[in-house]
Amino acid sequence: MQKQLTVKSGARSEMIDITGMVRSVIRDSRVEEGICYVFVPHTTAAVTINENADPDVPRDIGMAMDKAIPWQDHYSHREGNAAAHVKASLMGASEMVFIENGNPVLGTWQSIFFCEFDGPRTRKILVKVVKSRQD
Ligand code: ZN
Repeated sequence: MQKQLTVKSGARSEMIDITGMVRSVIRDSRVEEGICYVFVPHTTAAVTINENADPDVPRDIGMAMDKAIPWQDHYSHREGNAAAHVKASLMGASEMVFIENGNPVLGTWQSIFFCEFDGPRTRKILVKVVKSRQD
């Protein structure tokens, strides 16, 4: 079972908590035990898992990314968004979470974040739920 989600970012760089959306896809699939893949089909956006209990954490991640990969530098890419491409590759286009008892298995402080690096834009996220064979 695969579902496409839509997310609208509101800034050039933004981390959007999509844990609830992913949880809903898993619930709708009725899969109790399995694997959930989250894939971002974009070259200047990504997905990552980190803390959202303290909203300063995603903010700090954004700040550190901006410091490590400045928007302006001696890039060759003519579109002018080379930094966004680099950040997207560092964060990665996919995440995988286990499903147990119909819920994603996440650590107490973990959330799934869609990472925008060249917004604001309307973006797609693909979520695939795969049932375990022994179910
Ligand atoms: Zn580009």
